[in-house]
Amino acid sequence: MRLILLGAPGVGKGTQARFIADKFHILQLSTGNILRLAVKYKTPLGIIAKRYMNLGKLVPDDLVINIVKEQISRPGYKNGYLLDGFPRNITQAKAMNSAGIIIDYVLEINVPFDEIINRTSNRRIHYPSGRIYNLHYNPPKNENLDDITGEPLIQREDDLKETVLKRLNIYDEQTKPLIDYYKSLSKLNLNSKENNYPKYKSISGLGAIKDIQLRIFDFLK
Ligand code: AMP
Repeated sequence: MRLILLGAPGVGKGTQARFIADKFHILQLSTGNILRLAVKYKTPLGIIAKRYMNLGKLVPDDLVINIVKEQISRPGYKNGYLLDGFPRNITQAKAMNSAGIIIDYVLEINVPFDEIINRTSNRRIHYPSGRIYNLHYNPPKNENLDDITGEPLIQREDDLKETVLKRLNIYDEQTKPLIDYYKSLSKLNLNSKENNYPKYKSISGLGAIKDIQLRIFDFLK
C-alpha cells in the first residue's frame, strides 16, 4: 500500500501515520521529521532548511523532492510507504509522478483552523523518534518526558502561535490546491476501469485519536 496523508499542520497526520504504518507494515516517510533531524545534526541540508522552517516557510522544492526520491529508492520501501507532509504543493506532486512514485490512496484529515491553533500550542515532540504527544489529548506518562526512552520532550519552534498562523496561510495557498488535484484524479477512475489513479477520501480529524484511526482504517480496508 502506498499512500499520501494530506492535511494542515497540526491535524494529527504524524500520530495517525504511525498507526497506519504499523497496521499495514509499511514505512512512514515524514519530510518534516527528516528535515528536523538534519537541522538538529547541522548537516548541509539542515543548515539551509532551518532558515525556512523557523519562519514557518516551505523548504525549497528541489531539496525536498530529492530527499523523497532518495528515501523511496531504499529496499525498505518496497512493501509500500506512507508519505506524511509530502507533497506540499502541485510542483512536488508533479515531480513525484515524473519520478514514477506510485500512490494508491490519498487521505485528507480535516480540522478547523481554531482547533489546530489550540492543538499545536499543546504539542510536544520527542525528536530522536518523532513520537508526538499532546498535553491534553495524549499526555506523556511522566511530565515532559518520552514514554519509551525517558528523554525530554520539546516544543517545536514552528509550533509557536505566530509561526503556526503563517504555516496555516501557506497551507491554504500552496497545499490545499492538492485536494482538488487529487479529487479530480480520483474521479477519473470512475470513468474508466483502465485508470489507476489514487483513491481520495477526506475524513474529520476531530474527536478521540482512536475514533479517527477507525475512520481511516474503514477507508483503507
Ligand atoms: P511538518 O512536520 O510536516 O509540519 O514540517 C515542518 C516543516 O518542514 C514545514 O513547515 C516546512 O518548513 C518543512 N517541510 C516539511 N515537509 C516539506 C515539504 N514537503 N516541502 C517543503 N517544506 C517541507
